[in-house]
Amino acid sequence: MVENPCPLCQGSGWVLEVSKEKALAKRCKCYLERQTEVLLEQANIPKRYQACSLKNFEVHNDSYRDALKISKQFVKNYPVQDVGLLFIGPCGVGKTHLAVAIIQEIILKKNIRCAFYDFRELIRDIQSTFTPDSSLSESEVLEPVFASEVLVLDELGAKRTTAWVEETIFYIINQRYNNKKLTILTSNYLDSAEEEDTRQPGFKKGEDSLVDRIGVRLRSRLYEMCKIVEMWGDDYRKKIKQAGYRF
Ligand SMILES: [Zn+2]
Repeated sequence: MVENPCPLCQGSGWVLEVSKEKALAKRCKCYLERQTEVLLEQANIPKRYQACSLKNFEVHNDSYRDALKISKQFVKNYPVQDVGLLFIGPCGVGKTHLAVAIIQEIILKKNIRCAFYDFRELIRDIQSTFTPDSSLSESEVLEPVFASEVLVLDELGAKRTTAWVEETIFYIINQRYNNKKLTILTSNYLDSAEEEDTRQPGFKKGEDSLVDRIGVRLRSRLYEMCKIVEMWGDDYRKKIKQAGYRF
């Protein structure tokens, strides 16, 4: 028994909508609200990002403006939206903020199952299932990763690639692609070493590019299934300049 049953449906979750000629059973508002709550809990969004919304995203330059516009469009289009997003940019420009904001809005507005994963944590979770005393199997760990309609994979490439990691991530992302499920990724790594851009001094030059981190095969798959959204940040630029002052 529900303790304080909803006055509209007495806890049944259904209401009758009576129009001119017929009565139609419809889901009660309280049912949808409960469902939204459950979806938000299941989405695995870290506490520090739970307040992130498209409304409270601060625009500091044109790349932020474009990224916000694309994010809003993504939410508006969903589920007709047919490509995911890959946010690329240095630390601190708000890539994760936007990715989280998108899935929270999709849950709130459309009651769709979404999930957030940090790239390193996902790899760690999968690896931990290989130990003999693990309570979870690999398929249990991967269930939400495959079943979520929209998946955020944060900080792609943040862990150095091994053949195993590359294979696993490719498998996951490819599987989602084949099932027409959307993936939103963020990465601090510039796309390729040759394409270093003087406009974006925040990127770590001389260090790995995205392709070094995730491999050629996954990179080309990501290009097929995601719109690339580049962001850069003035704050980061200042920091780099500051670091250059020697005392
Ligand atoms: Zn109700």
